[in-house]
Amino acid sequence: MGTTRARRLALWAVALAIALTLAGLAGRWAGDAATDKLRLAGAQRLDGYAVSLENLLSKYDFLPGTLELNKDVVTLLERPHDEELRDEVNAYLEQLNRQSGSTTIYVVNLDGVTQAASNWRSIYSFVGDHVAFRPYVRDALRGVPGGFYGVGTTNGEPGYFFAHGIYHNGRMLGVATVKVNIERLERGWEQGGDKVLLADANGVVFLSTVPGWKYRTLAPLTPEVTRELEASRQYSGHALEPLGMRALRQLDGEAAIVTLPEDQRTPVLSQTRSLSPRHWSFVYLSDLNSARGSARNAFLFALLVQALLLMLVLYGRQRKQTREHLEAMVAERTTSLREMTQHLSEENSVRRAAEEKLRRAQSELVQAGKMAVLGQMAAGMTHELNQPLTALRTMSDNAQVLIERGRLDEAKSNLATISQLVGRMGALTGQLRQFARKSDAIVTAVPVTASITAALFLVERRVEQERVNFQMAVRDQDVHALCDSNRLEQVLVNLFNNALDAMADSETRHLTVSVERANGRALIAVTDSGPGIPEEIRAHLFEPFFTTKAQSKGLGLGLAISEQIVREFGGELRAEAPGAGGARFVIALPLAEQETL
Ligand code: ADP
Repeated sequence: MGTTRARRLALWAVALAIALTLAGLAGRWAGDAATDKLRLAGAQRLDGYAVSLENLLSKYDFLPGTLELNKDVVTLLERPHDEELRDEVNAYLEQLNRQSGSTTIYVVNLDGVTQAASNWRSIYSFVGDHVAFRPYVRDALRGVPGGFYGVGTTNGEPGYFFAHGIYHNGRMLGVATVKVNIERLERGWEQGGDKVLLADANGVVFLSTVPGWKYRTLAPLTPEVTRELEASRQYSGHALEPLGMRALRQLDGEAAIVTLPEDQRTPVLSQTRSLSPRHWSFVYLSDLNSARGSARNAFLFALLVQALLLMLVLYGRQRKQTREHLEAMVAERTTSLREMTQHLSEENSVRRAAEEKLRRAQSELVQAGKMAVLGQMAAGMTHELNQPLTALRTMSDNAQVLIERGRLDEAKSNLATISQLVGRMGALTGQLRQFARKSDAIVTAVPVTASITAALFLVERRVEQERVNFQMAVRDQDVHALCDSNRLEQVLVNLFNNALDAMADSETRHLTVSVERANGRALIAVTDSGPGIPEEIRAHLFEPFFTTKAQSKGLGLGLAISEQIVREFGGELRAEAPGAGGARFVIALPLAEQETL
């Protein structure tokens, strides 16, 4: 258990590491792509700045060289004490300076002393200044056209100094110098919102869009260089401290990721472009924030995508698990249902067997009921059969005598009566056999009056002997009930016998059977004029073995069995008290509609 958990944890850790690595790679890739874009833009800017600087400087390149064409300039160098001429040269330089847009134009003799200057009227006039220490003057005096950026020693104004030898008849007389203010370039850069700086060959920043960076150095200066700069007073009055820019990563010869002195934490892209022949270098700094933002976004996006993928995988797994769980549940339920069904069908067969047993028992009971009735009727029956038998003997004896005496007509009449009696006896025994028959109930459309007649036949002798007034009150002739004829006769015989028993001590004996249709039922009412049924007995009428009769006469099964037979056919048997006294039993059975239509 513990090992699987540990393994799962390790798996998750590996997955997380992979996800982070992938996201890191994506971030790096996006960051590099954004940096490349920045570099391209920076390179274009640098190109632009370099061109504009060159344009500006080249405009003044030729200017010092043209001064030797002025006769007065040459003459002044030859006659340095001609003050009048100096004034003229000063005025000329002043005008030329104004026209060319330069800062100052001045002429220096071979000793490095300024002879005339455009700013001759100003308190900072260069006239009379010693400038031989200035490298550009030195170079020009050596015959090499000089160019130099420096801070003015007189007024502290920075500028670019161009110097060119002044020749006359192949002989150098002095040096012409033009100073140009290039600080205005900065303003153009500033407008672009860029961080740009321009450093000289020694790495001293002399133009910068960030004011605090000017006259600082890209790297610490060596002592020799420091000495040299002090000698030339190139940046006189400035300490030239290192800027404090730190390289984090060198991308290639031109580009690096650096931090700036004011914010050591934020990396910045630095691009350098060196400008020959002056050995200056432009440094362009761009904000890496957007690139870092892209990298961060790509990192987050990659993480998000992976998280989504993971979620998809987990979701899929969850679904699979749920499905499997559901399938297992369904299978389980199915099994238990099958077991239940089997159980039910077992129960069902047990129930069916019990029902079958019950049905058989009921059938036996019905049969027992019949036998009981027959038993009760047996005494009457034997009397019933004995009487015609005696008559038959007498009549056949008589017939014999009559034939002997030749009274054939009378003998014939006797024989006819004999035949009638035999037929009647046969009918009675046939009816008895039919009644006693043990049969399963078969539901058919039973003509009700026919059943009444058949039942009456079995009790006819009693009706006659006991002088009972029997009446049929049939309102609907063709009433058919849905039941079994044999069973219906059994019920009727029971009811008739009970009625006859009840009326045994009555003075007037009326037995009425009525038939009618009511509410879709066949109603057969058996009414007698006996003493009726007392309330306390009525409650127990249909209970098995309930009887008020003597042991030999009644078993108390008749009504119980009759009620059950009628109920089995979907009907009911009820006892009523007719208004005029006596008792009434009503059999209500379903009508066999199709038969009656
Ligand atoms: P048994 O006839 O064997 O007594 P039954 O179930 O047929 O059994 O009848 C039960 C009892 O119901 C009878 O004992 C009798 O008291 C009463 N009874 C049945 N029919 C009538 C009737 N027509 N008039 C009065 N009482 C009756």
